[in-house]
Amino acid sequence: MTPGTAPAPGLRAYAAPGALAAPPAAAPASAPAPAGLTPFGAQVFSAAVQRRRLPRDVFARLQATIARGATLDPDLAGAVAQAMKDWALEQGATHYAHWFQPLTGATAEKHDSFFSPAGDGTAIAEFSGTELVKGEPDASSFPNGGVRATFEARGYTAWDPTSPAFVLRRPTGAVLCIPTAFASWTGEALDHKIPLLRSMDALSKAALRALRLLGDSESARVFTTVGPEQEYFLIDEQYYFERPDLYTTGRTLFGTKPPKGHELDDHYFGSIPERILAFMLESERELARLGVPTKTRHNEVAPNQYEIAPIFENSNVGSDHQQLTMQVMQNVARRYGLVCLLHEKPFAGVNGSGKHNNWSMGTDTGLNLLEPGDTPHENISFLFFCSAVLAAVNRHQALLRASVANIGQDHRLGANEAPPAIISIFLGAELLKIFNTIEKGEGDPATPGSFLGLGTPVLPPLPMHGGDRNRTSPFAFTGNKFEFRALGSSMSLALPNTVLNTIVAEAIDDLSAKLESALSGGSLEEAVLGVVRDSYSANKRVIFGGDNYDEAWHAEAEQRGLSNLRTTPDALPWLVEKQTISAFERYEVLSERELESRFEVSVEQYSTKLNIEAETAASIARTMLLPAAVRHLGELRAAGHEGLIGETAGLVDEFVAAITTLEEKNAHHPADEGLEYAKWMRDNVIPAMEATRAVADKLERIVADDLWPLPKYSEMLFIK
Ligand code: ADP
Ligand code: MG
Repeated sequence: MTPGTAPAPGLRAYAAPGALAAPPAAAPASAPAPAGLTPFGAQVFSAAVQRRRLPRDVFARLQATIARGATLDPDLAGAVAQAMKDWALEQGATHYAHWFQPLTGATAEKHDSFFSPAGDGTAIAEFSGTELVKGEPDASSFPNGGVRATFEARGYTAWDPTSPAFVLRRPTGAVLCIPTAFASWTGEALDHKIPLLRSMDALSKAALRALRLLGDSESARVFTTVGPEQEYFLIDEQYYFERPDLYTTGRTLFGTKPPKGHELDDHYFGSIPERILAFMLESERELARLGVPTKTRHNEVAPNQYEIAPIFENSNVGSDHQQLTMQVMQNVARRYGLVCLLHEKPFAGVNGSGKHNNWSMGTDTGLNLLEPGDTPHENISFLFFCSAVLAAVNRHQALLRASVANIGQDHRLGANEAPPAIISIFLGAELLKIFNTIEKGEGDPATPGSFLGLGTPVLPPLPMHGGDRNRTSPFAFTGNKFEFRALGSSMSLALPNTVLNTIVAEAIDDLSAKLESALSGGSLEEAVLGVVRDSYSANKRVIFGGDNYDEAWHAEAEQRGLSNLRTTPDALPWLVEKQTISAFERYEVLSERELESRFEVSVEQYSTKLNIEAETAASIARTMLLPAAVRHLGELRAAGHEGLIGETAGLVDEFVAAITTLEEKNAHHPADEGLEYAKWMRDNVIPAMEATRAVADKLERIVADDLWPLPKYSEMLFIK
């Protein structure tokens, strides 16, 4: 291995499956682009650009490496770096950055200049293969959950050639961003990309094994795909600046319900106001130039809430693009005097924002493994993979819940909002009927072997585009993919998809092993249907088609033995449960130590963020709201209105008491860290915050409007 050019451990190459690759959102290159439509991918060092700029053999070798998912040949790097630099300089870039995703869930970049002094008073632009392939940011302050001691600051970034580099333009300059993985010097993953790539690999291997058993001899690679639907709020930035809670914590810690909510449903899918549309158009143009294939936009349920969704891509590129999307939207909003809120629950009592993670598996030959087919044979394969998903989700429901746990999520999943913290699967009536028929197929003496016939015309036509919908389900089959709806709006896609890929790989392997033994006897169809039937029977407790909001479901779920992990501290331990470690180690996605580190980082983030919320709430209450209430009381006293004085004085007393309790709780918590501390915070600090807010919200309704220092919900949510 050439020192300095080794890819990070476990870092392999991946590509979008040909037939599944997202088509460009803009017009094809040959057609003249309509005015104002920027060429798709203009700022991306894409395969097309590479073909033009790389020596023919280098291009061919690079593409082959990517398609095979193989390790990169280090001596390709020099030629690629040269071409990438020349291209980036033409794009106006002066710097390059290894762009990576530390465990904070955000993206990080450290900019280095291309230019070095030439020794004669001028500078030359340089960028070597080594600089492309490997970086050493002194990123010692990123959370790592003990994997890397702070004194051992070395963490490496390693080029991921399968996610194309791009040039980010800012008003005053441009920087070449190179998607990279981030690992410790001992080779442990310090980021979200490495495990995602490893999990895609694991799933590919497992799915190929199954495909061979199912008679597919052509597919050489299976890719997981993701298409996220992102919800967000836009508010006028003036209000944002006037709300320390919003700019400090991302959500409003105070605010009484507006007289008008979403009851009228006049916003949902309504016509988009001009300023908002201008923001959307510009974001989409910018994203298109960055190669992000955005597709749909519309108003969401809550006032001032919107949604954007791209065309799906392979999980790695889709996940990178999702990070870019959030970044671009936040930047562009500011150009229109808006702020884009990605918090899961910016406004109490108003719908929160989530992210629907549409997920599937596709082969390099262009098959979607979750697409019911036209032929019985395709349907057999579909039922097999679908069964694997049911089994995986049933087995690891708690882990899936843990993969989407963060402090913002507790206001959605743990509260009475869809989706709930109970992970169940919605199949749709047609698919449910098919599984039930298969299950009953055997054991019915009147029609021996009737399930055999299911391979032929008796098999009811499978749902082509899943007609019915269930908007309250956290995990729904939607025609040719599953939609995991429990992600939070601010989250990276990487961890939940890593979990999905890994647990489905495990389930596919389990079913394959069963299929292998079943195959020794009869026909393929018979064997598969037998495996599907047994697996369905064993896992069907996770299937639920009713209203997930319903209290009755919560009771039933408990009887079925499904977990209901309402808060982050309840859910996170599943990241390090025995069965999690066993699956993740078996597929070499994350070691026990790496899982431990993620657990620790998440626990710490929860407590830290909660502590920040509590301090912000106490400070706003004491220094902004209480003074307003006291002034108001003074005015009432001056006016001599006894009834109003009594009412206000009573609330002021309550408020002072609540603030004092909040301050005490937040000052005197056990000095410990870890899960027990997080639970203590949850059980003591949150109730104190809520109590303070309850009084403040009552005061907001009676204190003179000109004295109340915070913009109100009715302003923030209805001014467009
Ligand atoms: P819905 O099914 O929610 O009505 P769409 O069919 O438009 O809406 O899909 C929603 C999202 O699902 C889009 O982002 C889309 O790209 C994504 N999607 C569609 N097919 C797949 C797939 N095979 N794998 C992953 N995501 C997909
Ligand atoms: Mg959807």
